[in-house]
Amino acid sequence: MAPPQLLTRRRCSVCGAAPTAWLAHLDADRSWFGVPGDRRSWGTRVDLCDECRALVEAGDVEAVVARLAARDGDDGDRTPAAAALCAAFVSAVAVADWLPPGVVAAVPDGFVELGELTGWLDLANAWPAEHVRRVPETREDHLRYADSDEVVLVRSPWPGVDVGDVVSYLISWADQHEAFVSGDVTPERRERERAIVRDFFVAFDAAFREEWDRHLRDWM
Ligand SMILES: [Zn+2]
Repeated sequence: MAPPQLLTRRRCSVCGAAPTAWLAHLDADRSWFGVPGDRRSWGTRVDLCDECRALVEAGDVEAVVARLAARDGDDGDRTPAAAALCAAFVSAVAVADWLPPGVVAAVPDGFVELGELTGWLDLANAWPAEHVRRVPETREDHLRYADSDEVVLVRSPWPGVDVGDVVSYLISWADQHEAFVSGDVTPERRERERAIVRDFFVAFDAAFREEWDRHLRDWM
């Protein structure tokens, strides 16, 4: 299970190894790099770990190149990408200050933003209710683009089973049970999907208990 201080599951955009501690705001005009025909951009915001933020803010292009190369593992030249990132850096906000206070408060209880785990947000409507929390959204960009002013968080119903794994199992279960069909999302289809999700929790709960009982028997 994620340690409580891990506020988000996103990873640093530079090293890829460390969890996000900062959100860096970039100057969109300066975050482009590459050659015509293969122009790329860092966009307007990147996730950075503590160490990478310090390097980017200090404009240490060489060190950023080394970290990008260590992550990607191939021999392409990372200098244009690193230079653009350092040049575009405007400011950084700590993830703890950027996240809605309700999210920060829920993390120690094992909750994770559902949107960080999957785009299938309707899952929350069939997730066991005691393991779902809804808190007010405070991030301006999210409020602008999302059609909801609340953040949905979920946690694993089973001790020792990571919530990310629960979502992965659930999606493959739903796939096996043909929850995903093409065509319009009708209320009937939604309800069918939710029924499949509820079945998953019943089935997995039984499996979990059986496994747990077996462990207890082994102990006694
Ligand atoms: Zn990093």
